[in-house]
Amino acid sequence: MAQISLTFPDGNKRDFPRGVTPAAVAAAIAPSLGKAAISASVDGKHFDLAWPIQADAKIAIHTMKDDAQALELIRHDFAHVMARAVQKLWPDVKVTIGPVVENGWYYDFDRAEPFSPEDLGAIEKEMKAIIAARDPVKTEVWDRARAIAHYVAKDEPFKVELIEAIPGDEPLRMYWHGHWQDLCRGPHLQHTGQLPADAFKLMSVAGAYWRGDHRNKQLQRIYGVAFKNRDDLKAYLTMLEEAAKRDHRKLGREMELFHLQEEAPGMVFWHPNGWTIWRTLEDYMRRRLRSAGYKEIKTPQVVDRVLWERSGHWEAYRENMFIVEVDEEGAKEKRINALKPMNCPCHVQVYNQGLKSYRDLPLRLAEFGSCHRYESSGSMHGLMRVRGFTQDDAHIFATVDQLEQECVGFLALLSSVYRDLGFDKFDIKLSTRPDVRVGSDAVWDKAESALAKAIEKAGYPYQINPGDGAFYGPKLDFKLTDAIGREWQCGTFQADFNLPDRLGAEYVGEDGMKHQPVMLHRAILGSFERFIGILIENYAGKLPFWLAPRQVVVASIVSDADDYVNEIVARLRGLGLRAEADTLNEKINYKVREHSVGKVPVLLAIGMQEVAGRTVSVRRLGETRTETMALDEAVSALAANATPPDLAA
Ligand SMILES: [Zn+2]
Ligand SMILES: [Zn+2]
Repeated sequence: MAQISLTFPDGNKRDFPRGVTPAAVAAAIAPSLGKAAISASVDGKHFDLAWPIQADAKIAIHTMKDDAQALELIRHDFAHVMARAVQKLWPDVKVTIGPVVENGWYYDFDRAEPFSPEDLGAIEKEMKAIIAARDPVKTEVWDRARAIAHYVAKDEPFKVELIEAIPGDEPLRMYWHGHWQDLCRGPHLQHTGQLPADAFKLMSVAGAYWRGDHRNKQLQRIYGVAFKNRDDLKAYLTMLEEAAKRDHRKLGREMELFHLQEEAPGMVFWHPNGWTIWRTLEDYMRRRLRSAGYKEIKTPQVVDRVLWERSGHWEAYRENMFIVEVDEEGAKEKRINALKPMNCPCHVQVYNQGLKSYRDLPLRLAEFGSCHRYESSGSMHGLMRVRGFTQDDAHIFATVDQLEQECVGFLALLSSVYRDLGFDKFDIKLSTRPDVRVGSDAVWDKAESALAKAIEKAGYPYQINPGDGAFYGPKLDFKLTDAIGREWQCGTFQADFNLPDRLGAEYVGEDGMKHQPVMLHRAILGSFERFIGILIENYAGKLPFWLAPRQVVVASIVSDADDYVNEIVARLRGLGLRAEADTLNEKINYKVREHSVGKVPVLLAIGMQEVAGRTVSVRRLGETRTETMALDEAVSALAANATPPDLAA
């Protein structure tokens, strides 16, 4: 019999008969591995234990300890088991597709009546019975005609349509979970008993169109989540609960920060409190940028299409741009403009004014640039995904030789800003040259190694994503981790060899000749809107004192204290604190509750005792006890507390 050679992760090679299955390979290595095996990677492809291997390959055997593979299989098997449970409970329901998604899976069903929450409970129960039965998972390869005939006979029209839409006439793979069969590419686990019966949950039912097309029939999509064990599921559900409590849309209402409305989808109406956060953050960023050697500029919102044609955006990005047409006086045709979707081309216009020499480089131009991009209505989400946003944008014009130093400077600035804003942990991803690109290999070599060296110098770990760079240059992406473990991609640092060329940016070098600068696109927050959303959720609304929109409310207990209340407010405001008086005729407990919902960090309660002693009764957000302090002492402590981190000694 013909032999094939399999190479293991440790580099060892071993011969097996052609057509050997990963199950047999695992058992041949060690009986214990044979038992623990759940799947394999064969030349990087995720393989079912039952699939024959036909040629020499690299192989790695997976067990439940390999999170990525184990979770993929568990979630995928759950999709099948759920569909089987649904058809057991309602045999007339038609099945369609059921892929694995983040944290779980979904399956789309055709059923006249909507699934109710009680139905989900019944399905879960049935799924547990299937798991308890430890039904074997089997697979066979069928030719198309047999598969189509099978599904016609079973009256599963969606499956017939699916098969007919698969191009070519390759045979199809079928899977059985016990008696229940589905058309599926696999791979799968070996029996239903491998599924953790206490680590899954059906989450919701939503409408979904067959094949995602609204002209097609509407189906019902049941979402489920699954993990390796009960603790992981519990942690996930707790995180969801915590995230719901922290939802910036809910807190945005309670703290009176902003609102959105139909007449301006995806564009934020900032209220005084929200705008105060914005301005405080903007002032902070402006100071940081200024001391890092950036120069701030402001460029137009509405720009003629001609510039977008030159920059390439008109061709590549047109469907995301808001178009503004205008009747210019005396002109025969309307002038067509676009609201800028990004600031880069405008920054090159500023750079291009006047001849630049190598002595002008690096030139760091910053703009809190308002941009507009069309996003589909379904993809928008509070402040997190909007159509109108403001970037903390800047472009550095530099020579290739200055790249490393600029990257070092940027990393220092970014890490310090993140730390100041409460994010100590962030990940860096370096994306390198894609197949289709501009610029010479020599320049790419230099740029990639400059970025890598800069990160290494700064002492951060990073991950390389080969081939994931933009066509115009390599880039770094920065993802920060929030208080409940969610990751948010915010910062970016991208080298660009293309735009300076397209828009004619040049400098005169030491050699007296004209050269092209590299353009570095960089942002730390990303957009103010989204970053403020992240801050609100990270802190559950309890922003650091210096960022809180209303820092202190001075509340009277009796109206005779009003004069003293107003005196205190005036004094705090005189020191730059954001203080308000609450002299409404309400009980103090009511005032405490109201301002704690509004997430005011400090409430000073003032009764006649405080008036008499020139003291204040200090109550901090989230604490039930109060502390009596002399007024002078309280005022200076609050003022010290309000100093932004970059200005604190
Ligand atoms: Zn499957
Ligand atoms: Zn840019």
